[in-house]
Amino acid sequence: MYGFDGIIGNEHIKNHFKKAIEKNRISHAYIIDGEKGMGKMMMAKAFAMTLLCENEDDGKRPCLKCRSCIQAMSDNSPDIIYLNPDKPSVMSIEYVRENLINDIMIRPYSYKYKIYIVNNADMMNSSAQNAILKTIEEPPGYGIIMLLTSNMGRMLTTVRSRCIKLSMEPLDREKIKEYLMNNEHLVSYQADVAAAFAAGNLGRAKKLSTSEDFANMLQEIITLLKYIKDMPAYEVVAAVKRAEEYKFQYEDYLDILILWFRDVLLYKACQDANQILFKDEISIIDKYARDVSYNGVEEILNAIYKAKIRLKANVNFDIAIEMLYLTIRENLI
Ligand SMILES: [Zn+2]
Repeated sequence: MYGFDGIIGNEHIKNHFKKAIEKNRISHAYIIDGEKGMGKMMMAKAFAMTLLCENEDDGKRPCLKCRSCIQAMSDNSPDIIYLNPDKPSVMSIEYVRENLINDIMIRPYSYKYKIYIVNNADMMNSSAQNAILKTIEEPPGYGIIMLLTSNMGRMLTTVRSRCIKLSMEPLDREKIKEYLMNNEHLVSYQADVAAAFAAGNLGRAKKLSTSEDFANMLQEIITLLKYIKDMPAYEVVAAVKRAEEYKFQYEDYLDILILWFRDVLLYKACQDANQILFKDEISIIDKYARDVSYNGVEEILNAIYKAKIRLKANVNFDIAIEMLYLTIRENLI
């Protein structure tokens, strides 16, 4: 799906763009901020396509049929230019100079505007950011620059203050669930888990619900939780060793544990299987609800949050996870 109609949620941004087009008050520099997977690129593309669509009927833009729309849909529009970091995690001044600052001085090839979509713009180092200042302040009339960031705080204040800033908002869990059931053909229970997990991020939900890696990780964690009570410490250590392959996805790994223990807490309090996420594992959740005290669940959740902070600070994955599982085991009566 292309155009604004294909985007779920974030009405405030769609309305902003639609109104700007309608009133012909288009800014020349935008920042669209939001974490990876939130749909920044789709939004920027929808705006660019609408601006360049050759259909005269305002209500039907982008029309998805004209030459401009067809080129844009296959990323072949000569007047929509995509920029990406040219080095790992860095967009250099040389690259930005060549592909934006100098390039924007050349008139559009076919259409009314020339639109630059800068992906991961917050990876521009400060010299690159300083270099684009003048361009975003006084671009040629046809030039539009869209900076996509996942951490707007990394942009210089001077850059930020010259742009219209739009932030992508997380979507409702229900909306994500509905999308996954209709488009990815997940059953209700799977869609629940993926939606809860994605915390409002549709891209993440889609990725998780189709990822074999994620399904494996989920299964391994559940198996470990199932048997940990009766495992001697050395077996816990061995199991953690196997978990090492997930060290680059440690946030996902820990989020699964958080959701699990939230279920335990919920089930302890209300005994209602319909309320919990891991419905397929109700017998283990029930056992945990009986085996762990309220204080114990709190202690475990705190330990998970602590592990998250430690891992963010680059503490060894094995050590952090091992300590975590030992804390879980200690709290099982
Ligand atoms: Zn069109």
